[in-house]
Amino acid sequence: MNILVFNSGSSSIKYRLFDMSRVSVIASGVLQRIGESDASLVHKSVLADGSHQSITRSQQISDHRQGMQQINAVLQQTSLRRDSPPLRGIGHRMAHGGSMFHHPTRIDASVLDAIRQLGDLAPLHNPASVAGIEQALAAFPGVAQVVVFDTAFHQTLPPHAYRYAVPRDFAHRLHVRRYGFHGTSYQYVTRQAARRLGRSSTSLNLIALHLGNGSSAAAIRGGISVDTSMGMTPMAGLVMGTRCGDLDPAVVFHLLRHTDLTPDRLEAILNRDSGLLGLCGHNDMREILELAAAGDDDAQQAFEVYVYAIKKYIGAYYAVLGRVDAVLFTGGIGENSAPIRWRVCQGLQGLGIVLDPDRNDACPPTGGSVHAANSPVAVLVEPTDEQLEIAEQTLQTIQGSDASFTPP
Ligand code: ADP
Repeated sequence: MNILVFNSGSSSIKYRLFDMSRVSVIASGVLQRIGESDASLVHKSVLADGSHQSITRSQQISDHRQGMQQINAVLQQTSLRRDSPPLRGIGHRMAHGGSMFHHPTRIDASVLDAIRQLGDLAPLHNPASVAGIEQALAAFPGVAQVVVFDTAFHQTLPPHAYRYAVPRDFAHRLHVRRYGFHGTSYQYVTRQAARRLGRSSTSLNLIALHLGNGSSAAAIRGGISVDTSMGMTPMAGLVMGTRCGDLDPAVVFHLLRHTDLTPDRLEAILNRDSGLLGLCGHNDMREILELAAAGDDDAQQAFEVYVYAIKKYIGAYYAVLGRVDAVLFTGGIGENSAPIRWRVCQGLQGLGIVLDPDRNDACPPTGGSVHAANSPVAVLVEPTDEQLEIAEQTLQTIQGSDASFTPP
């Protein structure tokens, strides 16, 4: 039983084809530079003996329509030949589901219309995913398609966590509130952590830290999200690779008054030129760690600011949860950087969070427990797999177990 997962950006489409009966990847690919004359499609098929076969194509791809047609053609030629198991469904990643979507949802005309209306809430993210869905519907006719929202896992936040203290009208008419993101990742790592601890996720209180280019924290009570650091958009919360994280909103007005920046340009700067990049000129944590170790002042400060923000959220979410069973690290930085995990947990012994330095340093890419034997709170490294989570939610939805849509 095969499920295909798409993650469509404004100039790229990434995809992965899963064999769900064996929970394994049978093909993956990325199409980049859509809209340019030298767009490239790199496709990899996993052969029966486990080896890879790569196909690279470079040509002009003017839009998502042509892009999806190309991807379909390569898949038909390789992993979706007539003699291959049939394609059971397609799952699409969508950043923003607003307050409307609480679950993965089977796509039909009314769902697509509702998603288009959400474009105002996420103008930087949703329109490209919508284009991907529209073109996948055309390129793969007759295949059931499902949309999986990054916000859905956080739809369980109580009003005191999702409301902003602004006039009620902004909330009611303009949908201004906290939504939170990285929900697909949190759902996946919560289940994995429960498995590792040999407990049910409904019995677990977790502080989960997704630390990648985009970084966020979540307070999870009994397997359900009760608070998270990203807000109406993915710009809020922790310091990120290029996004500023939490900021006094008055800074925006100060900058608009004292520079000739337009609101759009300032938004782009706070999204793409801020965070670690703004602090030290680099957004790759590996480079920052190397520079900091070599004595670079800006890199050292960026590292300190990054770690400090995470620590503050751990303290805040400890207070929110009252009892914490485990702190989870995931994302490219959380999974791979022992020094970041060490510094984040340093000084948290009073909260019952005690890391074992050797286990932390030796933690393999497959994840593991890194706390000391006497640590009241477990500290886990859980590699995330958002694509697999989308594939699993897609299959469940198609099989009718989890579909739900509340019309606006
Ligand atoms: P995205 O949010 O784009 O999915 P990832 O989760 O892949 O990003 O995380 C990317 C980040 O992970 C980069 O900052 C990269 O430097 C960092 N990273 C990857 N490996 C390591 C490592 N061994 N040590 C420190 N940082 C790492």
